[in-house]
Amino acid sequence: MVNLDREDSFVIKEVKDGILYFDGCNTLELAKQYGTPLYVLSETDIVSRFAALRTSFLEKWPGSRAAYACKAFCTPAMLALTAREGMCIDVVSGGELYTAISSRFPPERIEFNGNNKLPSELELAIQYGIGRIIIDSPQELALIEKICAARKKRVKVLYRVTPGVQADTHDYIITGKKDSKFGLPMDDDIIFPSIEAAIHSPYVDFLGVHFHVGSQLFEVRPYLEAVDTVLDLMKQTRERFGCDMTELNLGGGFGVTYTDEVRQPFDYFLAPVMEKIAAFCQREGFERPALVVEPGRSIVAEAGINLYTIGSIKDIPGVRKYLSVDGGMTDNIRHALYQAVYTGVIANKADAPAEEAVTVCGKCCESGDILMRDAKLPKAEPGDILAMFSTGAYGFSMASNYNSSPIPAVVLVKEGQSDLIVRRQSYEDLISNAIIPQRLK
Ligand SMILES: *Cc1c(COP(=O)(O)O)cnc(C)c1O
Repeated sequence: MVNLDREDSFVIKEVKDGILYFDGCNTLELAKQYGTPLYVLSETDIVSRFAALRTSFLEKWPGSRAAYACKAFCTPAMLALTAREGMCIDVVSGGELYTAISSRFPPERIEFNGNNKLPSELELAIQYGIGRIIIDSPQELALIEKICAARKKRVKVLYRVTPGVQADTHDYIITGKKDSKFGLPMDDDIIFPSIEAAIHSPYVDFLGVHFHVGSQLFEVRPYLEAVDTVLDLMKQTRERFGCDMTELNLGGGFGVTYTDEVRQPFDYFLAPVMEKIAAFCQREGFERPALVVEPGRSIVAEAGINLYTIGSIKDIPGVRKYLSVDGGMTDNIRHALYQAVYTGVIANKADAPAEEAVTVCGKCCESGDILMRDAKLPKAEPGDILAMFSTGAYGFSMASNYNSSPIPAVVLVKEGQSDLIVRRQSYEDLISNAIIPQRLK
């Protein structure tokens, strides 16, 4: 066995007799049994990430919580696993909320984010009795109050703020800067009336504030800068209203390895943040608030691989060589959307030298339908199985039916065992909601 993972990673990708194994499963057999394209998620890897969070953060700081941001990969099996591991979840839509509730996820461990929560979504959330609503706009409190009044309910709330820090990542996934559709700006005449209204509301318990500075981050600096601004807000909230915040939510964004990025352990981010908060609280005479984190990508990205069958191969002399696979931007839009870079291997030639630079494209009618640009792979032939790595986050959850492509199946693997957790869409599924009006029949 040759281990393809980095030293700091869990051993889930191995090569035996030239074949890629993933969490103990022969990937060629997975491709044969379940078909391609195929999403494969390693339970061992996901559980190890939760365990790392537990030992490096949750157990060190009693009262803290981790809410898996399920938009990264949201299926009932994943939510059942997250519940079993004792974690909370962060949902951002009625659909995710429904998925969680139908998967018997404990409602009090659900937190609801989103910049434009619909009245119907808030109704569901309040009716289910979820743990937290993270208010994102000046109008949202009144909406929540109206629903709580009608249903005689109370709900715990935080405000999401934009701390105005610049994170070093792709522009589309920066979220903590001031010019953002997310959160409330920290201008005094916006944030303080909002906080005051929540403190005095008979329908909500105001706990504190939330921020999320961006995604795929490798530096603690933006987190520390954001924490500084919210600690200042905490102090001013006490001075103005005599109210102490009891909870701070740091969001997610912890970076992962797609190619050669060096992933930081959770405590690289969380230890300095906690120390800063603890020092502030001691200095200013506050009880230490509960810290909540919302990791998404860092829980599932590296736990996933995608398997494809290679079809047509076009070598354009002096230009580039295109390998076409049976999936594409419909199952992984991240390269098309923000030039995300991936690595992979040919699963049936996993120990062959990577001697060619090729561009792996999908079968959609878009020139931008690229999965990997200038990837280094061994010489490929039609019928070979391509495995792309670190595809567990924002792949399946961003999948679309463009070109009427059925969304691939998802398989959960663990130490050589595999279970189908999402069936492949059929052609019938593609038209199951469509209607031909009588006059066209
Ligand atoms: C997307 C998001 C997360 C998760 O971000 P990752 O980069 O996947 O860890 C957490 N919190 C909020 C509010 C988000 O929007």
